Amino acid sequence: MDKLVIVIPAYFEEEVLDSTISTLTQILEQLSEEKKISGGSTLLIVNDGSTDQTWSIIENYHKSNHFVSGINLSRNYGHQNALWAGMTAASVDADLLITIDADLQDDPKSIIEMVDKYHAGYDVVYGVRNNRESDTFFKRASANLFYKLMNKLGVNIIPNHADFRLIDRRVLKQLLQFPERNLFLRGMLPLVGFSSTKVFYKRRARQAGKSKYPLHKMLLLAWDGITSFSEVPIRSIIVFGFLLVFLSAFYVLYGLIRWATGHTETGWTSLMVSIWLLGGIQLIVIGIVGEYIGKIFKEVKRRPRFIIQDDLYTKPKPPRMKNSDSSSNV
Ligand code: UDP
Ligand code: MG
Repeated sequence: MDKLVIVIPAYFEEEVLDSTISTLTQILEQLSEEKKISGGSTLLIVNDGSTDQTWSIIENYHKSNHFVSGINLSRNYGHQNALWAGMTAASVDADLLITIDADLQDDPKSIIEMVDKYHAGYDVVYGVRNNRESDTFFKRASANLFYKLMNKLGVNIIPNHADFRLIDRRVLKQLLQFPERNLFLRGMLPLVGFSSTKVFYKRRARQAGKSKYPLHKMLLLAWDGITSFSEVPIRSIIVFGFLLVFLSAFYVLYGLIRWATGHTETGWTSLMVSIWLLGGIQLIVIGIVGEYIGKIFKEVKRRPRFIIQDDLYTKPKPPRMKNSDSSSNV
């Protein structure tokens, strides 16, 4: 029987964790009763450095509910790295793996459908939302713009698919071979390949707690997606440069004609304009180049993508006693 591990990143999710764990436990029970997954299947909750009750809730459930386990990262590493941490831990023995957000905005019932698709022979099952009613107008519009832009830039991503997906053992093994540090899983999965399909669901509003993706984090993720997967911005600089040289050639020609015909102007205005304009353009260009150099800088350092502090998944061990009395060995 195949072991399913559901990886759930959690960052300050104490308000939703109880209901999330009970909903997902029911689904695991149902699936294992129907003999679609092994009874040893688990939830692997990754505490991404939250300092609220998130980790102690996980530890408590782990004691009473054999479906619950987790890892505790040493600090906040961000959603994508937390997913990576969970997938790496699960890769030891998972036959199939599903990632889902802790707030269950993505319909947990789709998990059953995903597992059915897995048994039908698919290696990757993408969860795709077919509504965005629960999102704000801004989030909807910006997401649409993002998918369009990514498409134009030649990056293959599935529209309206976030990080709710099933992958099987062999895809997981291949995915974890990717050495990059700027993670954007949505863009990486299509690069791995294998046979894939989609399941559609209605995305709900968050039940409790606040979104951990404020605007600046969303923009950072989009920016990572673009600059980690597309060379179009850096190539367009060259095109832009050529265009500028071409245009200024006309300007030089015009200036020469004016000079030859005796219409020499003081030229101060045009000079100032070009200095400022060119200065600005150069700064933008240097900025974009710097962005890529920044990425290279980050990649070559090969820093760990996450550090696990406690591991209930592979090495169950009793938590270290705080303030233990060391002088008691009389
Ligand atoms: N998350 C995380 N680390 C972070 C930010 C978010 O592990 O630094 C988790 C969060 O707990 C949730 C998921 O990533 O399970 C998605 O976050 P959220 O639901 O807040 O994003 P939204 O649905 O609003 O885009
Ligand atoms: Mg959410």
